[in-house]
Amino acid sequence: MKVVIIGGGWGGCAAAVAAKKAGAEVEIFERTDLLLGVGNVGGIMRNNGRYTAAEELISLGAGDLIRIMDNNAIHKNIDFPQHKHAWLCDVSKVEPQVREYLLSLGIKINFTSRAIDVIKEGNKIKSVKFYDKSIVEGDAFVEATGSTGSMDNCTKYGNGCVMCVLRCPTYGMRVSLSAKAGIIDIPGERGDGTIGAFSGSCEIPRESLSPELLKELEKTGSVILKISPEDVNLDKLNTKVCQQYALKEFAENIILLDTGHIKVMTSYYPIEKLRKIKGLENARYMDPYSGGKGNSVRYLSSTPRGDDMKVVGLDNTFVAGEKAGFFIGHTEAMCTGTLAGHNAVRNSLGMDTLILPRKTVIGDIVAYANERLNTSDGKRVRHTFSGAEYFERMKTLGLYSINNEEINKRIETLGLKGVFENTLIS
Ligand SMILES: Cc1cc2nc3c(=O)[nH]c(=O)nc-3n(C[C@H](O)[C@H](O)[C@H](O)COP(=O)(O)OP(=O)(O)OC[C@H]3O[C@@H](n4cnc5c(N)ncnc54)[C@H](O)[C@@H]3O)c2cc1C
Repeated sequence: MKVVIIGGGWGGCAAAVAAKKAGAEVEIFERTDLLLGVGNVGGIMRNNGRYTAAEELISLGAGDLIRIMDNNAIHKNIDFPQHKHAWLCDVSKVEPQVREYLLSLGIKINFTSRAIDVIKEGNKIKSVKFYDKSIVEGDAFVEATGSTGSMDNCTKYGNGCVMCVLRCPTYGMRVSLSAKAGIIDIPGERGDGTIGAFSGSCEIPRESLSPELLKELEKTGSVILKISPEDVNLDKLNTKVCQQYALKEFAENIILLDTGHIKVMTSYYPIEKLRKIKGLENARYMDPYSGGKGNSVRYLSSTPRGDDMKVVGLDNTFVAGEKAGFFIGHTEAMCTGTLAGHNAVRNSLGMDTLILPRKTVIGDIVAYANERLNTSDGKRVRHTFSGAEYFERMKTLGLYSINNEEINKRIETLGLKGVFENTLIS
């Protein structure tokens, strides 16, 4: 049985690992020359409720990608405003390690392979068409194309193509394959109803910091630098994807995190103002290159799906990552990707698909995101274990825990220990 995965971000990679472990032949098709998509400029893991979700994944038998990130953590248990026990991982080192791991499992990876259309047979996708005119057939499909760009969208809903890590001018635009199969996409909205939202952080090279500031950051992992009052722009918070960082502290200060490259926790910020801050006199942006003026626009499209990640209206197609709803984060993409990849195999075998119980944070966020979509402001809420609405919910429901033993016990009691390790094809 062959599972075809379109998009090699964290969502697609997690889906590939899960489908492979379940026993399928797996191929990833990625439009750029790198795995991990926008995850190449992230690095914050295990902050707030992401800790619980990461430990759940490990206990469920799907901790492979969490372990790679953990192995690359350069700072552990860092606190920064409203965020506790974050692990900061060196994203400059992770992509080759994920690539090597996937290949070692026998997953085939095709780069510079941009899917542009699908061929259907009834309610099933039969094959996917690529830009180079090749056609690939599969028994099951996982769409993990993300929700960012293309540059037309970044121009229409943002401040232009900002030259981010997705590099649309070179590799071509994102394509929503479920939309090509006739399923209507759901776009996310900002507070004022505008479609999409700006990514919430930029990166600057570590060598552009003053030696004193770099030394401090290497020691502590995070620093908070005060912005002079005339340069504070609170309005910008409303346009930010990351509702967990849309807080006053993030507008009144420049918050830097050491994730290999230096993460600046703001969507965009004029370079001349950035350079007024002590230690940042020589700063320049490396992602996005136009971080002084804008950032990539995300949450432009999501696919209607069930709580097993199956696309509503398609019998053999599953969806993962940001494309599966308004999820933010590497951990969130790994959770939805794992479920999508595993269920793609179950479904092809004629087995019942797995819906994780709501006593797990993964099961609950997947179901809650769907429920929330049907409420009046549902398209304006983003979902992450790391803050904002969903983290509050986790705490209220008593699902938040940083006790590994307790999390593991919860999964064992539910009879789900190692469920994603099981081979389904004999
Ligand atoms: C600047 C920035 C900083 C971030 N920082 C963090 C952080 O510190 N911690 C954290 O947890 N999260 C962070 N996030 C969020 C997190 O990275 C994302 O939510 C998550 O990685 C999304 O994964 P994904 O697989 O759903 O999508 P993507 O990463 O967008 O991957 C989609 C992939 O599909 C490919 N693709 C699209 N269309 C096609 C097509 N037609 N054919 C073939 N391939 C296609 C794309 O090239 C891409 O590689 C950050 C995001 C950004 C933008």
